[in-house]
Amino acid sequence: MANLTGQNWQVKDEQYVWHAMKPYNPNATMIVEKSKGAWITDIGGKRYLDAMSGLWCVNVGYGREEIAKVAYEQLLENTYTPLSVGHIPSIQLSEKISELLGDDYVVFFSNSGSEANEVAFKIARQYHQQKGNASRTKIISRYRAYHGSSMGALAATGQAQRKYKYEPFAPGFIHVSPPDSYRANEDHIKNNDPTSLPSVQAIDNVMTWEMADTIAAVIMEPIITGGGVIMPHENYLRGVKAVCEKQGALLIVDEVICGFGRTGKAFGFQNYGIQPDIVTMAKGLTSAYMPLSATAVRRELYEAFAGSEEYDFFRHVNTFGGSPAACAVALKNIEIMERENLFTRSAEVGSLLLSELQAQLKDHPYVGNIRGKGLLIGVELVSDKNSKAPLDIADVNKVISLCKDQGLIIGKNGVTVAGFNNILTLSPPLIISSDEKDFIVEKFTTALNTLLQQP
Ligand code: PMP
Repeated sequence: MANLTGQNWQVKDEQYVWHAMKPYNPNATMIVEKSKGAWITDIGGKRYLDAMSGLWCVNVGYGREEIAKVAYEQLLENTYTPLSVGHIPSIQLSEKISELLGDDYVVFFSNSGSEANEVAFKIARQYHQQKGNASRTKIISRYRAYHGSSMGALAATGQAQRKYKYEPFAPGFIHVSPPDSYRANEDHIKNNDPTSLPSVQAIDNVMTWEMADTIAAVIMEPIITGGGVIMPHENYLRGVKAVCEKQGALLIVDEVICGFGRTGKAFGFQNYGIQPDIVTMAKGLTSAYMPLSATAVRRELYEAFAGSEEYDFFRHVNTFGGSPAACAVALKNIEIMERENLFTRSAEVGSLLLSELQAQLKDHPYVGNIRGKGLLIGVELVSDKNSKAPLDIADVNKVISLCKDQGLIIGKNGVTVAGFNNILTLSPPLIISSDEKDFIVEKFTTALNTLLQQP
């Protein structure tokens, strides 16, 4: 294997590797050989600025020696302890997560964002049972949101094209429309009351129509990310939290992408002045140096599981979740974020990136809307700025490949149903320099201008 040429890697890749999100028998998948900082290098030696941080996850950038060292040392010190037993890195990390969340939380570890959400659903349902409300089982989520690939998380996901081949799902997941500050402007908030926003009222009404005592929880990202960086009204989360409290439902906030500095704060919800009941996190928790996710619950929820009977404890286990090395990696990753002020940096560089893109592209006929928070940016492409008719998917894809030709990796929203597949996404590592920010602006603008000149 070691002396295969680059071309042979390509052949072997096509022969043996089943790639995520690609059709059968793909031609020329890019094969990455190495990565450092914000840059990846393919086997042909071409360098790209990865303005998607892999899958929105390499927040501290690639190739940090001190993180690799911690993993190596921890694997030698204590390779594995199941989470039914204690180990020091998991204690330190739980305390740190609770501190970053800004309140008293207890943390359950898993391996992926999907699992963290499954855990949240199970805890929410059992919490209500422990409190004598066994009828509270339904979970409300939003169309266009992504919450994971496992059957429960996919049931919560609001993107039909990812789901229809895998039905039936577990019943009890209900979808409502998301807020959308570009297409459904919600400025008419009444009497300064966040629950008066139409997209909040929609949730309140669904809870009432379904009967409030059948609702376990609402799950949402602070900002829908993969679905297209869809910005809520600034009072939306406050409204949702108030409605959940009124109707007796828990609020689960999915911070799998928004967490760990992506939106300029430790957690995305901290931009909106609320405190969730349950918070799920993954990706930026370790900046993808190791698989790890967490479900943090307010202490009061945890204490509802007190009792000595077998049915009182949370019946959930996963073998690898919260392994000592993964927790040690997460701790070092967070230490770096704090030492290098990466949350503030994300807010500052993100706001410059946003305003510079807006300035460069405001008159571009295909750019309907550029929005975001921190280093999370969405660019919605339209064929007509007045009607907001979405740009054709073929042209959206052309922009992505024109960026790639110039050494810039960008993403697009996960919703591929016709008419909703027109949003480009940017989510670079939080460490990008001013020059790297300028590189993104220049190449992205060039790609869009080149598209205009093409027949
Ligand atoms: N929630 C959100 C918001 C996500 O973006 C993702 C993954 N893209 C998940 C959950 C699932 O995470 P994982 O792929 O680690 O299972």
